[in-house]
Amino acid sequence: PSVALTDFLLEAAEHYPNHEAVLFMGKKLSYRKLLDSAYRFANAMIHLGIRRGDRVALMLPNVPQYVIGYYGILFAGGTVVQTNPLYTERELVRHLTDSGAKTIVCLDLVYPRVKKASQSVNLNNIIVTGIQDYLPFPKNMLYPLVQKKQGAGRRLDPETENIRMFKQLMARSSPKPVRTEVDLSEDVAVLQYTGGTTGTAKGAMLTHENLVANVIQCASWIHRIRKGQETILTAVPLFHVYGMTTCMNLGIYLAARMLLVPKFEAGMLLKLIDKEKPTLFPGAPTMYVGIIHHPQLSRYNLSSIECCISGSAPLPLQVQQTFEQLTGGRLVEGYGLTEASPVTHANPIWGRRVQGSIGIPWPDTEAVIMLDNGEPAEPGEIGELLVKGPQVMKGYWNQPEETASVLKDGWLATGDMGYMDKDGYFYIVDRKKEMINASGLKVYPREIEEVLYQHPAVQEAAVIGIPDEYRGETVKAFVVLRQGQQATEQQLEQFCRERLASYKVPRVYEYRTELPKTLVGKVLRRALAEEERNLRD
Ligand code: ATP
Repeated sequence: PSVALTDFLLEAAEHYPNHEAVLFMGKKLSYRKLLDSAYRFANAMIHLGIRRGDRVALMLPNVPQYVIGYYGILFAGGTVVQTNPLYTERELVRHLTDSGAKTIVCLDLVYPRVKKASQSVNLNNIIVTGIQDYLPFPKNMLYPLVQKKQGAGRRLDPETENIRMFKQLMARSSPKPVRTEVDLSEDVAVLQYTGGTTGTAKGAMLTHENLVANVIQCASWIHRIRKGQETILTAVPLFHVYGMTTCMNLGIYLAARMLLVPKFEAGMLLKLIDKEKPTLFPGAPTMYVGIIHHPQLSRYNLSSIECCISGSAPLPLQVQQTFEQLTGGRLVEGYGLTEASPVTHANPIWGRRVQGSIGIPWPDTEAVIMLDNGEPAEPGEIGELLVKGPQVMKGYWNQPEETASVLKDGWLATGDMGYMDKDGYFYIVDRKKEMINASGLKVYPREIEEVLYQHPAVQEAAVIGIPDEYRGETVKAFVVLRQGQQATEQQLEQFCRERLASYKVPRVYEYRTELPKTLVGKVLRRALAEEERNLRD
């Protein structure tokens, strides 16, 4: 495509200037105002010395400043460095050092961490904003509340040469149109760090073309381009590639209303759905689970929801069915990864859906299952999923070797093991890296976890490989029991033995009250494996 994401915003502002673009805690922002604000931010960036290709970190939850900052940076020709607001000081230092970002936009709540990080890494500009900057009521009404709960609202350092307040910066800046020329297929629009579920975070270089392609693929998959008519429930974090593409960038392409939700909380989401009537709701399985199990569910009307894509982890059948009954809409499972902007597969919204499958490749996307010997697999055979398409990243930032190990001739090795059935539907078995090698035999943790989940006393389970003198690796299970329920190790082992080949049966069990999870609700097997290693060392 020869258009940029910024063209989507220009078009929306031209044709739907008075339509609501953003709704955040009662505050509305029209498309005209959003464009005006993005220009102001772009001019401010240029004034602060940001030039084509310079990296600017955004460390914000889902607030209007995120959308303004993101599009402002793109208008200025910069690269957005997506930054998780929950990063610790150590993670932030590594992130800023790796990306080379010298400017950061952050929420006042995380400012103390940014300030500490700035003692180890040189930051030319720290731009601080607060939730109240975009709220219709005065600061003193909100601050006492926040202050009590989170220790926020403390006095920030006064504005200095490198510390600026977002609001003042915007007020002083000009809204005159500006757009730095970039090469759409070469320049990096976004540096999106991989979630780090399995290892060290790497920055995926997503070009303007990659991001535009995934938005258009998404719109054609929904099969309806109703500009100015959709409302998107934006509950997935925008600093995550999934929310960025399927909520924000798709939203702007469709000139939709985006309902920004800074933190997922099922009760609050239910109220918002009932009141604001979203039509599209991209989410993760844990979100749909939270909604269908909410005790006050019956009080709310969810019938506005028409179309949902669930990504990032497997979607259980019962969740899908209950959610569809509740809303009358369609909820389908899709698949993607940071390196592919992110979506590559999904079940058709209106066509044949296959339970347990991630669906078929998206328009313009090729996919193949590759065996260890480099040959393509037959239907039903398990191998690594490889994908190719306009949404596939340019490479990893400053990591040519890592790039070469996953990208060859435009084909991206996803690191996920899976298979394709004879009808061309794809299935994910597990991550390649998390595969366990027990006595030379491959064990996929997900298969064992699914068995454990069937046990009536088990609420959650995670399985990893631990070193074993004789077998190379042996299977260990971490289990969270349902409240008031019991299951001994022997009972769990017996349960698994009845359902799994002997080499797959966990030999070691550990009971936990909860399991570590990522922000989008994926269980962090890596964190459990790390704890195990630390115990051994
Ligand atoms: P890492 O950083 O270790 O690469 P991550 O989970 O942090 O992992 P993301 O790019 O956020 O990286 O997530 C992509 C991964 O999520 C995929 O590679 C796949 O393992 C998993 N995934 C996404 N959708 C699905 C799905 N529908 N079913 C099963 N797994 C999925």
